[in-house]
Amino acid sequence: MPGFTEAAATLTESERLWLQQQNNTLRVGIAEVPPQQAYLNEHGKLEGLAIEYLDAVEAALGVEFERVLAPSYGDMMRMARAREIDIVYAASRTAERETFLSFTSPYNYVSNNIFVRAGDEPLNSLALFSGERFAVTEGSAVSEYVHTHYPDINLVKARSSAEAFNMLTAGQVRGAAATAASAYKYAYEAGLHNVALSGSLGYDYAISMAGRNDWPVLTGILQKALDSLSSAQIETIQARWSSPSDSARVDLAQLREYLLVGALSIGLLVLTGLFLWNRMLQREVAQRRQAEARLEFLAYHDVTTGLLNRSGFLQALERCECQQGGCGLVLLGLDEFRVKNELWGQQTGNEILHCMGVRLKSVLPEPLALARIGGDVFAILFTLDANEFEKCTVEDNPLPQGHESGRGERAQLSAFAERLLEEVRCPMQLSDNSRQVISATCGGVVMSDGQERVTLCLQQAEVALKYAKREQRGGFMLYNASMWQDDTSSLRWTEQLLLAIKSGQLFLEYQPQLDLQRHRVVGFEALVRWLHPERGRVPPGEFISHAEQSGLISALGEWVLKEACRQACTWRMQGLDFDYVAVNVSVRQFVDADFARKVLRVLEETGLPAHCLELEITETLFMNEYDSVCETLHSLSRHGIRFSIDDFGTGFSSLLYLKQLPVETIKLAQEFVLDITGDASSRQIVSAATQLGHSLGMRVIAEGVEDEAVEQVLQDLNCDVVQGYLYSKPVPVSEVSADWMQRLALQSRAVTVTRHLPELS
Ligand code: C2E
Ligand code: MG
Ligand code: MG
Repeated sequence: MPGFTEAAATLTESERLWLQQQNNTLRVGIAEVPPQQAYLNEHGKLEGLAIEYLDAVEAALGVEFERVLAPSYGDMMRMARAREIDIVYAASRTAERETFLSFTSPYNYVSNNIFVRAGDEPLNSLALFSGERFAVTEGSAVSEYVHTHYPDINLVKARSSAEAFNMLTAGQVRGAAATAASAYKYAYEAGLHNVALSGSLGYDYAISMAGRNDWPVLTGILQKALDSLSSAQIETIQARWSSPSDSARVDLAQLREYLLVGALSIGLLVLTGLFLWNRMLQREVAQRRQAEARLEFLAYHDVTTGLLNRSGFLQALERCECQQGGCGLVLLGLDEFRVKNELWGQQTGNEILHCMGVRLKSVLPEPLALARIGGDVFAILFTLDANEFEKCTVEDNPLPQGHESGRGERAQLSAFAERLLEEVRCPMQLSDNSRQVISATCGGVVMSDGQERVTLCLQQAEVALKYAKREQRGGFMLYNASMWQDDTSSLRWTEQLLLAIKSGQLFLEYQPQLDLQRHRVVGFEALVRWLHPERGRVPPGEFISHAEQSGLISALGEWVLKEACRQACTWRMQGLDFDYVAVNVSVRQFVDADFARKVLRVLEETGLPAHCLELEITETLFMNEYDSVCETLHSLSRHGIRFSIDDFGTGFSSLLYLKQLPVETIKLAQEFVLDITGDASSRQIVSAATQLGHSLGMRVIAEGVEDEAVEQVLQDLNCDVVQGYLYSKPVPVSEVSADWMQRLALQSRAVTVTRHLPELS
């Protein structure tokens, strides 16, 4: 096939076939984002970091995409939305873009800064621009971020960073957002000296490729091509474009030009003129040197903490020589920082990051490098001391299996991380006089010699951190190969789940709950179902946990909530007689700062009365941030929403929270209910929990009722409501009707009456 050469990415047969069927007609949209991502050089050829990644992806796939150069970045996004292009070469993932694009994992990170006019008040946080005009590039992820998180800012959309800077220097806007590299290009290189950096924007670009989201196979293929790039390839591209030396070189050439012009002028001017001109030039050179130094600093440092940024850290990693014992790389991620940032505001968030940077600096024994490489992630590179190994025995620091060699290094790394975590947990005094405890989780990897591929090491440490956040929050985990496997497969899950949410592969089934005394269907539990086009039905037990880990649970949960409320409303309008619909809520969803507002908005949109909604939460919720959980529970309860505790008895079952919280129902865990007739201890647990619930004035539901013998016991124990296969499995909406509910009620009455017959005779 023309245009196809030997490909390096390992595609499945169907992916390869699909790609061939496109017959070189896939269109990739490109817009100039100088000076780093993409720009037209003096020969009219596109150059830049993102262009090199695009070249590498094409080479790995053995194809050539049709390159469509858009007039601006905003135009490129418009073209992607209108399906005029199929691939976007460089974009950060945002909620709005996800409605038409599907993203690969990021291949580059760039930090964003706030710029103001020199001499103006240096407003160093977006929160301070409320009511002010602030310039952003049209169609950029920053534009969406500021619009969503700071609705009070008066956004002014420029077609390019150059235009944003022109507006800033002309006094048409109070501030502008830009990366350090584009600031250099537009402000200093173009001679706009009255521009000053005032702070970090609080949102950094994580740049991915993206494919149109109605062709999921395309993004899968792009991801595989990116995954197939060797560490050497990645390092070469990153090193070439993350260094500001190119732009510095351009600038120095210009400086030489200035000096030449100056020299010619000197010949024509009188001595005094010469003197003044010389002074001016000196000032300009000094100013430019200062600007250059500042921007070079910015290219490698993080404004908020003053530590190295990701590029700076990568450079330090490359330079490090791991001798003797090798080097240890530890990533420290602050727990729930995103939530805290939302709750307390960005300014406090920045203060915490700054204090954390200072604290890490003070407790670390001379690290080789210390950096903030992402929003809430710090990276520490340090030398492992061979002499220390004897002191750290493996027994002190148990290690993952399958690591016979280098045990000393690993033990030392573990000990180091544990010490670090202890320090981090000490209360932090903030400027508003509050004391906050910030917890963190660590992931790490041992770099055994200087030959290690640095990007790979960093990726491994990132995988370990991600894994630790999921498996051992607040603790430390060392990288091992099985984590990587797990991570890539969870990436696939994330992509597929995202598609499922958007393309209608999810639906709900409803399981009735019956009142044992009144023999009536009192409610329905909504249970989410996923009909995967290839795998068929995927059980929620499998995909809910992936949704929780990837953060997609918020979107998934919101969809479930809206759909269940909408259905309950329809049933009520059809005259079906029931009290409520019960919706399961994950912990991750509940602790979302926006949760209460989202629930109330769904009720408003669907028109379901609040007392007709029951939210099923689990006991693990109370092991989280108890105060904020309580506040959300109380505020929703004040609106009339009911709460039940699902799977009661499997969590930490504290009586204390039951007394304090507005929870009116406990749902006994089905493992006890299923066993109730065979296992005495299960029966005792159910009996005790029922009595406890009743003594606190709560309603008790038993789920997992599969046979009449179990129902009998539950009746004897005075359980209020039952749910289980004995009455009905979860059913699709089409099966629910007034007649069906009537039949269930009669059936439950029949079971009870039959059972009581011998006693009556
Ligand atoms: P859950 O909330 O405890 O739901 C009850 C589970 O027990 C359901 O499984 C239901 O089909 C099953 N079940 C009901 N009666 C019987 C019975 O008599 N015998 C047996 N053996 N099982 C019975 P399902 O649908 O597979 O859901 C599993 C779990 O997935 C749910 O447990 C819940 O934790 C979660 N889940 C389901 N839908 C959602 C959702 O929309 N959001 C969230 N966050 N979680 C959900
Ligand atoms: Mg449930
Ligand atoms: Mg349950």
